[in-house]
Amino acid sequence: VKDSGRNGISFFRLDMEERSLERILLENELKKAIQQEQFHIDYQPKLDLATGELIGMEALVRWNHPELGRIPPNKFIPIAEETGLILPLGEWVLRRGCEQNKKWQDQGYLPLKLSVNLSVRQFYQSDLLVKIKEILQQTGLEPQWLELEVTESVFSDMDNAAAILQKIRDLGIHTSIDDFGTGYSSFGYIQRLPIDTLKIDASFIRDIHQNKESHAIVKAILTIAQTLGLNVIAEGVENEEQLAVLSEDGCDQGQGFLFSKPLSGHDFEKYLSGLPAA
Ligand code: C2E
Ligand code: CA
Ligand code: CA
Ligand code: CA
Repeated sequence: VKDSGRNGISFFRLDMEERSLERILLENELKKAIQQEQFHIDYQPKLDLATGELIGMEALVRWNHPELGRIPPNKFIPIAEETGLILPLGEWVLRRGCEQNKKWQDQGYLPLKLSVNLSVRQFYQSDLLVKIKEILQQTGLEPQWLELEVTESVFSDMDNAAAILQKIRDLGIHTSIDDFGTGYSSFGYIQRLPIDTLKIDASFIRDIHQNKESHAIVKAILTIAQTLGLNVIAEGVENEEQLAVLSEDGCDQGQGFLFSKPLSGHDFEKYLSGLPAA
């Protein structure tokens, strides 16, 4: 491949062909993977920064392909979104996550809020509400123990987005804006939207302790959130310096490798069993 790359154009074309081949391969494998349930969910703890207490966990889907091995979400989620395969996959994650959360509660562990990522495609699916209600009913999980994380990309159609979020909230489910600050961000709209939590994108947390601009953005988000009565969680907290800044600024909650990486269901349960019971 490298040798043919002497001339920039052919190199570029080869690269494109390879990428689309990988894409076609993954697309085909993804279809099989959904039928064969090659997925599992990891759970990443969310902590109260003031008390250090565990307050919830985020469900993160994992694909372990029998021959290709582990394929990271950043590789297959975009393909799943484009092809619409995110609909059955997302529904599987929601059902499996709710089922697992309910099981942990029934076992007597501290009841926790499970956050599930909802892609744009799922968000605008016409039977979304029916599906969610059905899953809550089938799994027996109470809606207060579920949170749906949506990115700002759903706000490309603001009126519709607001109506859908309201319906989700009317069910008693919490709503959160993921990767906050990276998308169609305008402080103007969050005031009008039925949301509970802003999740500050990891890109602002990464250098919050070293970069004035990042720190200023985080402080602005915290100020607005406080005024509007919204929760704030910082994602991608990796070190003590970042934590110190966030604590000083009064950020409520955090998630990141500093506290825990995403854990398998088995390991998360071990973590739960080490906590004081409900
Ligand atoms: P996200 O929703 O922003 O999830 C957070 C990502 O950051 C996860 O990556 C997590 O493992 C990673 N992370 C957590 N703590 C740290 C940290 O301290 N440092 C760094 N560098 N990274 C950290 P992951 O699991 O690879 O997922 C990537 C993205 O794939 C997610 O980003 C989300 O957009 C998407 N995704 C994952 N699971 C699902 C799902 O079930 N449904 C949908 N629609 N999207 C999903
Ligand atoms: Ca998320
Ligand atoms: Ca995020
Ligand atoms: Ca992210």
